Amino acid sequence: MLLLGPCAAESREQVLATAEQLVGQLPAGRAFVYRAGAWKPRTSPGTFQGAGAVALPWLGEVRARFGVPVATEVATEEHVRMALEAGIDYLWIGARTSANPILVQLLADALTTAPQKPQGVLVKNPVNDDWRLWEGNIRRCQASGVPVMAVHRGCGHEPHWEMAYRLRQTMPEVPLLLDPSHMAGKTAGIAPLVVVAERLQYAGLMVEVHCRPAEALSDAEQQLTPAEAVALLAGSGTEAAEESQTLAWLRQMIDEEDERLWHVLLRRMDIVREIGEYKRAEGMAVLQPERYEAIVRRREEWAREHGLSDEAVHTILDAIHREACRVQQ
Ligand code: PEP
Ligand code: MN
Repeated sequence: MLLLGPCAAESREQVLATAEQLVGQLPAGRAFVYRAGAWKPRTSPGTFQGAGAVALPWLGEVRARFGVPVATEVATEEHVRMALEAGIDYLWIGARTSANPILVQLLADALTTAPQKPQGVLVKNPVNDDWRLWEGNIRRCQASGVPVMAVHRGCGHEPHWEMAYRLRQTMPEVPLLLDPSHMAGKTAGIAPLVVVAERLQYAGLMVEVHCRPAEALSDAEQQLTPAEAVALLAGSGTEAAEESQTLAWLRQMIDEEDERLWHVLLRRMDIVREIGEYKRAEGMAVLQPERYEAIVRRREEWAREHGLSDEAVHTILDAIHREACRVQQ
């Protein structure tokens, strides 16, 4: 499953031009759903909030002219009603809405009572790393009888692979898609994520595509041109899955944890440098044995709870501490 299209529906011309270029440039037979947000949940007021309900007929035109199913984001019951009345094929629930189960329940109820159902609902992970909330939202929507898919877009611009892994383990029957655009936040980060999506056998992608990304009214830095999107997808679908899926996922999770660990260590060293300056100014010795002993005892306690040996704690802390002393010299 492939969803392509702009972050926001900005104008009729932009919606139609982007769709026309995609249809014209994708290889014949490459099916996709055209996405464009009519209502945009933006961080700041005063920024572009989406064209609103006037954008729905623009999507209807895409559907009629190019025979492509269309999708838009819904955040209120009124959005659901208007989108379905306009014949929108797929609805998605964004990360900010997904953080609020009361709102998601209202949307699910609106789907249950809607006279005309969409072909599917895509539920993005919440803005916070909480796979159980994501799972709960999916179950709420499933109860409406509409087919549900999950979209992994990460938190901020961090993937949080484990969140998607836990969901996938719990609901293996729910198709899991990746949104590398919001996950990366910038175009350069998209292609590597598409490679990961293939290795981890995601069921599809949602990628932001704009006919003139530099002029986009939202998410300008992460939108690809239609030509760039087509080039990106041309290489996909070719990588043979040789690794075991479980191992591939676990390794992806380890790499992300290591990256975090590394950044924490580097930040810790920056603080160590500041402490070094303080000690120098106050004429204190670099090595403070009592402080170090207290640090070791506390970390041993944390580690024991996870079944790690005191010896491992000493080896790790000793290496960190030696480098910290060197930095403070
Ligand atoms: C979007 O898809 O344009 C969007 C707003 O995404 P998210 O909810 O993932 O931030
Ligand atoms: Mn966007």
